[in-house]
Amino acid sequence: MGRKLLIDKVNVPGIETYDVYRKEGGYRSVEKALKTMTPDEVVEEVKKSGLRGRGGAGFPTGMKWSFLAKPEGIPRYLVCNADESEPGTFKDRYLMEKIPHFLVEGMITSSYALGANTSYIYIRGEYMWVLHILEKAIAEAYANGFLGKNILGTGYNLDLHVTCGAGAYICGEETALLESLEGKRGNPRMKPPFPAVKGLWQSPTVVNNVETIAAVVPIVNDGGEEYAKIGIGKSTGTKLISACGNINKPGVYEIELGIPVEEFLYSDEYCGGIKNGKKLKACVPGGSSVPIIPHFLVCKTAKGEDRLMSYESLSDGGFATGSMLGSGGFIVYDEDQCVVRNTWNFARFYRHESCGQCSPCREGTGWMEKVLYKIETGHGQMEDIDLLWDIQRRIEGNTICPLGDAAAWPVAAAIRHFREEFEWHIKNPQLAQTKNYGLVAEKVFEMAQ
Ligand code: SF4
Repeated sequence: MGRKLLIDKVNVPGIETYDVYRKEGGYRSVEKALKTMTPDEVVEEVKKSGLRGRGGAGFPTGMKWSFLAKPEGIPRYLVCNADESEPGTFKDRYLMEKIPHFLVEGMITSSYALGANTSYIYIRGEYMWVLHILEKAIAEAYANGFLGKNILGTGYNLDLHVTCGAGAYICGEETALLESLEGKRGNPRMKPPFPAVKGLWQSPTVVNNVETIAAVVPIVNDGGEEYAKIGIGKSTGTKLISACGNINKPGVYEIELGIPVEEFLYSDEYCGGIKNGKKLKACVPGGSSVPIIPHFLVCKTAKGEDRLMSYESLSDGGFATGSMLGSGGFIVYDEDQCVVRNTWNFARFYRHESCGQCSPCREGTGWMEKVLYKIETGHGQMEDIDLLWDIQRRIEGNTICPLGDAAAWPVAAAIRHFREEFEWHIKNPQLAQTKNYGLVAEKVFEMAQ
């Protein structure tokens, strides 16, 4: 069994309440940080831990914190990005729902480290019931002296608010989130300036994902060096993975970074193998925006080495043969899945969620969706595949925010690895139109063997 630092206590009855959480050792990191450490010392521990952002980009958290501007007389903010909307990703929801005080504790300790006296948790509107769970936990933390004025008699003050979005995926982008938090339309901002310099209400702001902030709790409790001993290379610590698709045991798992993908996919401790004894066709290892990898590259890299659940190994070979750890949304396709249909489904999502500010994303996502739909429904022509390739190429890297890349990458990877499946749809329009996707996918899979 791998070590669990975040969700090892989720099954303790009543852990969502302050009393049980505290009895189980909760809020120790707040006591330790506020009573025995300076804010800079907390930042130093986070740097030593090697913790990388768990929202998708994987940027080193300690470094991000050290970029925070500290002008005199201007407030600083910590904002928790709980706008978890990436298809296939539901691990933050699990943490907040099951053990909400863990996030509250992480917010207090992290806010102290950053010198913030007002902090926010921005949660997606669809998680309304989780918002109420967090509100209750925050109220309990206030009632027990962990929030408010003069926390634990240390002179440190912190107010923590939780607020919800209105259902826009783009508000998971940090500057769009800040716009939304300010009460405006959630459009991403041009950068620079980055939020660390001009963030919420033009003040220095750190935006971190739920899991990132939660990970600060064990880092402060046990020390950054201890945390860094878990994992492999620059992928330190543990990671929450939400596993879904055609597997026997979908759910949220906490893994030590660096375990083999094969172990994660096939062992009973985690996914338990492919459902109904089917064959593995492909995997999208980090949420809908990361490139799909075909079955022969899921457990082994192109060099023939074991593929590991780490930032480096999952991206080994670049997008030609690898993918990304991303947000940890591990989506598994069995042999019955139609890659064209699934790619169209993702494209539809990104077209819908584009905020429309920049032309390549606004126009390109719509075009990709239309062309994919044409192919999927048996009306495609061979040149449509090259057209799709061209559209995604013109989106990637040419937009204000990463949603453009997120829309382009799945299309590029699907064509790169499953071109013959696109061709098959075009050559067999009548079968493609049957809507018997299992039959279509099975025939395409046979052909690809
Ligand atoms: Fe908006 Fe898309 Fe441009 Fe991002 S890439 S700013 S979502 S139009």
